Parts: sequence; structure tokens; C-alpha cells
Amino acid sequence: MAHDYTTVIGLEIHVQLKTLSKMFCRCSNSGEDAPPNTTICPICVGHPGTLPVLNSAAVEYGIRTSLALHCEVPEVSKFDRKNYFYPDLPKGYQISQYDQPIGIGGYVDISPSRRIRIRRLHLEEDAAKLIHSNEKDISLVDFNRSSTPLMEIVTEPDLRSSAEAGVFLHELRLLVRHLDVSSADMEKGHLRCDANVSLEFDDHGIRVQTPISEIKNLNSFRSVERALGYESKRLYEEWMSGGDIKKRNYKITVGWNDAKGVTILQRWKEEAHDYRYFPEPDLPPTHTSQSTIDDARARLPELPQQKRLRFMEEYGLNASDVMIICEDNASAAFFEHAASELDEWIKSLSSSDAELSAKTYRLLASWYINKFSGLQADRITPENFGQLIALIAKNTINSTTAQELLQIMAHTGGDPAQIIKEQNLEQVSDTNILDTLCDAVIEKNPEPCENYRKGKTNAIMFLVGQVMKEMSGKAQPNIVREILEKKLSDKA
Ligand SMILES: [Zn+2]
Repeated sequence: MAHDYTTVIGLEIHVQLKTLSKMFCRCSNSGEDAPPNTTICPICVGHPGTLPVLNSAAVEYGIRTSLALHCEVPEVSKFDRKNYFYPDLPKGYQISQYDQPIGIGGYVDISPSRRIRIRRLHLEEDAAKLIHSNEKDISLVDFNRSSTPLMEIVTEPDLRSSAEAGVFLHELRLLVRHLDVSSADMEKGHLRCDANVSLEFDDHGIRVQTPISEIKNLNSFRSVERALGYESKRLYEEWMSGGDIKKRNYKITVGWNDAKGVTILQRWKEEAHDYRYFPEPDLPPTHTSQSTIDDARARLPELPQQKRLRFMEEYGLNASDVMIICEDNASAAFFEHAASELDEWIKSLSSSDAELSAKTYRLLASWYINKFSGLQADRITPENFGQLIALIAKNTINSTTAQELLQIMAHTGGDPAQIIKEQNLEQVSDTNILDTLCDAVIEKNPEPCENYRKGKTNAIMFLVGQVMKEMSGKAQPNIVREILEKKLSDKA
């Protein structure tokens, strides 16, 4: 079936904050690494008579993220009780923010031409973790996660495909990692996502918008894209085959079965929860002064999008290389450090010019992306990597030797200039030696020489190869080729 529809997607993303303690008590926030039910206290297991105390670091992280998302941070925000009954929620309510969240209205640019608006950012506590054992037909509760601080970020329905939703999530993950507010590890559930999807299309000349499906608890990039793809197609087919979707005007909730690759209906509107929100009586409203906001704004690190633009400008790199290099903080920092090492070399040249530095940075980027990234490269420091690139740029070593050298550096660490000396890897550019060798190779291989003279220019590559072999690879193939070409045309 041909799909001629527009997918309309909005996301609700839960981000676990990496504060030291939990949202409303002093319990450790690293309970996921501890034995079950060991990082708990009467507050986070909801004993009657206990009082929550708001974690100020969680508020600070919420403000920092709101500002980075270009949200407004209102002077007053407040917490509310979201009431529901479930074994993972010992109090019978979750403390969350309802009508006065900490961040309102913002955006993320996922490309220079695509802006995704943010509706709100609010703080809340996580529930405990249920562990179901089918074998014994029982469920166990681990309260370590109970009251872990979360940030929920809600987008406007601005995303138009499952792939775009994936790009947005990657961008958001990168952002919260840059801000150092979350590890945002999806496998560990530190970043989880609910997706709202509906379709728009023309049905016999009438513009149709289908009811929304909310897909709950997606916890990998792959499942987000697959689930959205599946559910969009399912909605369309249900509409086209005249299903119930044409009559209902309310949203349904579905779960994603990753193993089977299908969504499963969880809840109809009739069964939807009424959470009976009301203001949390045990917590006063949160006041954020203008000076706190100004201060937080001033301390924001360089954001991923700013960093990418700067890298393009400063190092003359293209957008796709910059996406890879700025994929995480550590990688971008490594690149900059290596580039500063190259700067020193460029400055030391008498004829340093912009053209040369741009060329050298592109060389660095290309080696970093194509050769360095695949290595177990913990032992290679950015200084040494920068020096390696300088050696290539200076023609001290050729590309083959440089790759060999990089392997050695990955195994043993160390200074590339030193390794070259020790292992005698330096390229021979002494033209006398090359001259003699080229003569010998021409002498030994009359047939390829003849072919070359007859116009089969490719025949020269065989001769270059022979010289390179004699030199154990320690020559610049371009130079060898030039010498050979000159000799062959002289003797022609
Ligand atoms: Zn506690």
C-alpha cells in the first residue's frame, strides 16, 4: 500500500538527573549499582508523617537545561501531586509539576532549517522498579529508584518522521551530556521516551487528522524509530480499511513489543487515568530570582550547535565531519587539543598562511574520523596525535608509514618522532638514493617501461610499487612517480 501521509510526532522525554542524592531526601542517587532496597529511607519509601525536602541541585539542573533549550524560566514554579495507585509508587502519588513547570516554551534546532519547539520542562520523582518473575509468578519491588530526580521534556508535535524523531533525541542526549546534568544512557533507562503520533492526509479530497496513539516507554533509539514507523503504518491501514479509528476521537495508549516488532493496545480513553492533580502541600513554591537565572545563563557551557558552527568556521571543516567530531564532549576536546598542537607547528613555519592551516586541519579531521576512531586509542594523547599529523603534513612520513605508526602508538603510547627514530621509519627523500633506485628498477623492467612509453600511463604504477618495495615503504610515492616519469620521458 502506498503511503501518502504526513506523520505528526511529539515526544515526552524523561531524563534522569545525575545529582548525588535523590529528589526529596539524602539517599544516594546511585542505587542502581547497589543491592536492592539499600539506598532507601522513610521519605523515599513514602512512610506517613515524613516530609520531602527539595534537592536544590535538581532545581539547578532543571534551570540549566531550560535555559539551554531556550525556555523561559518563570519566577515561580511549584510541585503537585499526581495521584494514582500502583505497586511501584509507595505514597500513592508522585510529586511532579503540573501547571507551573520550571521551564516553558523553547526550541532545539536539529539542523539549520529545522526547529523543534519545546512546550515545557518539568521536574518530578521516579517510581520504584518492579521486577517480575514469571517462573515464580511473583513481582518484587526495588525501592532504590524510588524518588530519583527526573526531568520531563515535552516537545510540540513538530517532528515529521520517525527518522527526525531519532535525530531530535540524539541532539537532546548530546545537549544534556554537554550540560553535565545526566549520563542520558538509554540502555540504563536514564533517557526514556513516550511518543505521540498521528497522521494527516487527504481522504477523497478531505483533509483528515487521525486520533493520536501514545507509545509508552521507548528505551532505545532503534525502538523509537521502529515503533513510530510501525504505528504510523498501522494507523493508516486501520483508517483505509474502515476500522474503529474513523469513529473514535480520543487518544489510545500502546506499548511497544521490541521482540515482535509490534505495538500492543494498553489503554482506551475510557480507562484513562484521572490523576486528580493538586498542589503538593509539603513543598513551598520554588522561587527563581532573575540573578539566579542570569548567573546560570552565564555559566552555560558552549552548546553543541554553537560548537559545531565554531568548528566549521575556525577549522574550515564541513558539516558532516563536524557532526562526527562533536558527537561527544571528549571527542571534541581531543580534536581541539590536537589542533592546538598543530597550531604551534604552523606558527613555527616562516610562511604560515591560512591555506596551509585549513589544509592541515582537514588532514587532522580526516585522520581522526577515518583512522583514529576505530582504534583502542586510550594511550594516544592529543599532543602525540597532533604531532603525528604534523609529520604527515611535513612529508616526514607517508600515509602508509603513518598508519603503521598510529598502530604502534595505540599499543605502546609515546611520541611519534621518538618512535620514528627508534624504528627507523623516517621517509627517505634523499633524491640521490631514489635516483639510483629508479634507474635500477627501469633497467630491470623493460616491459612496463615500454608500455608506459606507448601511452599506457597506468604502467608506471607498477614501477612506483617496485621502488616503494625496495624502500620498504619509506618513500613518498608521488615523488617516486615524478622521478620515474622524468626518466622515462628523457629516455624516450
Ligand atoms: Zn530516601
